[in-house]
Amino acid sequence: MKVVFTHANLFDGTEHTELRKDVSVYVDGEKIVSVEPGSKPLHSGSREIDLTGKYLMPGLVNLHAHLFGDGTPSEILGGGESQKKFLDSLKTQAGMDAFVATVRKNTQQALYSGVTTVRGVGDFCYSDVRVRDEINSGKTAGPRLLVAGPAITCKGGHGDGFFSVSSDDPEELKKIVREHVDHHVDLIKICVTGGVMDAKKRGEPGEVKMTLAQVKAVCDMAHSLGLKVASHTESTPGIEMDLQGGVDTVEHGSSLTPEMIDLFRKNGSSITLTLSPAIPLAKLPVSITKLNEFCVYNSDVLVKKMVEGSKQALAAGIPVGLGTDCSCPLDPPYNMWREVRGFAKYCGVSNAFALQTATLGDAKIAGVGDITGSVEPGKEADLIVTEKNPLEDLTALRDVTMVMARGSLIEHPAVQKNKKMEELLDTIF
Ligand SMILES: [Zn+2]
Repeated sequence: MKVVFTHANLFDGTEHTELRKDVSVYVDGEKIVSVEPGSKPLHSGSREIDLTGKYLMPGLVNLHAHLFGDGTPSEILGGGESQKKFLDSLKTQAGMDAFVATVRKNTQQALYSGVTTVRGVGDFCYSDVRVRDEINSGKTAGPRLLVAGPAITCKGGHGDGFFSVSSDDPEELKKIVREHVDHHVDLIKICVTGGVMDAKKRGEPGEVKMTLAQVKAVCDMAHSLGLKVASHTESTPGIEMDLQGGVDTVEHGSSLTPEMIDLFRKNGSSITLTLSPAIPLAKLPVSITKLNEFCVYNSDVLVKKMVEGSKQALAAGIPVGLGTDCSCPLDPPYNMWREVRGFAKYCGVSNAFALQTATLGDAKIAGVGDITGSVEPGKEADLIVTEKNPLEDLTALRDVTMVMARGSLIEHPAVQKNKKMEELLDTIF
């Protein structure tokens, strides 16, 4: 299909921070073939979409997502009997099929909200691989998915027995990486420190759980097989471990030391900021989030430390990307706009910089910067249309009016939002 978007106000995602007025973007099949001022006569068979008064920009890239949940606070995240029941249900074919349907739906919600690339960093039983393959084969609509399969950690590490598989033996960990590669994952996810959701005491999210030998074993094996490693890391000592072990993307993050800045540069590593899960957990009562009492304290510390670390990284020219960590309580799959706006607000960056980060910046970190993230000839046609100017007001991204993913047009993207959850989030974030 040939589509021409005409008379668009274009934010192209590159270093151009200004809006380009009255631009035409020509799409042929999956690709953008040209971007030009004004409009020329259309080829026969081309469809024109007049965007007079509207705004066109690259689709958003969510660097940190879990696909299993829709953000409704659920007891399965807190462990116990309901978690066991959920995991048992995945052992049957019918249970697994029902679960994959949920993953498919959540992934579509992300697409309809304007996210055209999602990096999945930990899901159950390769459900993420299955949905990615469905999307790539054209069986179902969805964003470009880059997926990690189940996260990997040590015994008792973050998510162990839930969304993570574990071993203490470096050789066993290498075997798990190979198994993941046999299942055709796109990247490897490890959990170096504890996490907010399974913490049983103050400060536990930052506790380093994996050893350097374990981290190195995973990173070396992943790198030898051509994959990058993302690590769940929520403290300064954890980041030190990541950088020594060879982690490529530090997920969540914390404050940095000057020595770390050098290591980030040397390794070419980056940070993925995730405000979306931490702010609701820090600001809302546990009666709503359904997690334990340490959650509020730990999340509050995490928000401050993540913001501090991201600011330090930005000042030093270390790439900072954005992810929502959706599936956490009160963190639905259509929340990327909130993360982008939160980045501008908490880290004090301009709207233009936040938009570049959420598009080409994130695409580069995900390793797909050469095929998506900007509106340029040769790139895949991942585009969104908004009514308002996102450079002036980032809430313009809240309701996108059109989405194109790899050339597939969704004219009236219908996100099924949880109204009560949206109202609650609007009071805090
Ligand atoms: Zn996560």
